[in-house]
Amino acid sequence: MSYLFPTYARLDIEVEKAEGAYLYDTNGKKYLDFVSGIAVCNLGHCPKTVSQSIQKQLEKVWHVSNLFQIPLQEKVAKKLVEHSVGDAVFFANSGAEANEAAIKLARKHTGKHKIITFLQSFHGRTYATLSATGQKKVQEGFGPLAPTFEYLPYNDVEAVKSLKGNDIAAIMVEVVQGEGGVVPGDPTFLKAIEEKCKELDALFIVDEVQTGIGRTGKAFAYEHYKISPDIITLAKGLGSGFPVGAMIGKKHLISSFSPGSHASTFGGNPLAMAAADATLDEIFNESFLTSVSEKGKWLKQQLIEQLQDEPLVKDIRGKGLMIGIELNTDVQNVLTSLRENGLLALPAGPKVIRLLPPLTVTKQEMEKAVHLLASNIHLHSLTFSPS
Ligand SMILES: *Cc1c(COP(=O)(O)O)cnc(C)c1O
Repeated sequence: MSYLFPTYARLDIEVEKAEGAYLYDTNGKKYLDFVSGIAVCNLGHCPKTVSQSIQKQLEKVWHVSNLFQIPLQEKVAKKLVEHSVGDAVFFANSGAEANEAAIKLARKHTGKHKIITFLQSFHGRTYATLSATGQKKVQEGFGPLAPTFEYLPYNDVEAVKSLKGNDIAAIMVEVVQGEGGVVPGDPTFLKAIEEKCKELDALFIVDEVQTGIGRTGKAFAYEHYKISPDIITLAKGLGSGFPVGAMIGKKHLISSFSPGSHASTFGGNPLAMAAADATLDEIFNESFLTSVSEKGKWLKQQLIEQLQDEPLVKDIRGKGLMIGIELNTDVQNVLTSLRENGLLALPAGPKVIRLLPPLTVTKQEMEKAVHLLASNIHLHSLTFSPS
């Protein structure tokens, strides 16, 4: 009997401790973790510098209201601004909250209400963000949704170009769709969104909740493209596992928020800021980001070499250490046998295996993962007959 609402299909694994790229369950079994708390534990589990930073703050002050000065917020915001095209930051506690802030700011700033998003997107579970999410299964049973969100097909340049209307406040997009199947945006598609936003006097919002904080080998994934978004939203990797979210906005937006416009009791809490501060010190570092890029390239290349001839494998794609292996079949059986063999990976939709190793993963750990993926997918390929 459980005292919890059954909102998650939980695996039967009880984690006892975690270190680096490994999880240890209460039966003493060791797992190589290519889930990383869903792109949260980017520095691996329990990274020393973040742990020390939080511990130091624990001895000083845990929480003060945002009605007081919080110098650590300024410090973390400065790092985010200096490494992005943005100029000011609002701190929240989660990805959905960061997106809520972005949606509110877009409406307040433009005086318009409609937000354009994309099919198979994922932006969160609050009312505005589940309305923004272009997936029926997330919305079912919760109507009426928040007005007015409209969805276009992802990577469809023509759909973006033919967009019209003087009521559009913003276009919001994931640079690489995460939950929707690890689908990188095409450069022409993202550029078309930027141009359409200029034409319609709408804001260009990139949801980098999953792709940000080094995951793709850049501080933010939009840097892979020649685009300059008005708003960037963040969460997952920002606190290395300590809950924290952020919205970064450009200078021309700053005066659209004033005292009372938006707030969060816990947003930018000193403990969360201590976690984010130490996390960014490690990740916003050229040599660290280059290593992520190189590891990502190597991992993808190895997967292509070892898997491309398997009849079960349809596509291998991704950016940096965010990689999807699309199969011709449901991934659950493969994920189960991987788990039994000691490798944890995620699904992204029914047919994609999503790999999100910690950014600190070693070559040896990647070799082990490739070997397990190749042998398990091969085993399932033997019993697979294309229909
Ligand atoms: C996880 C995710 C969210 C939601 O973040 P929460 O912290 O769960 O609210 C929003 N957008 C994207 C792209 C995500 O991957």
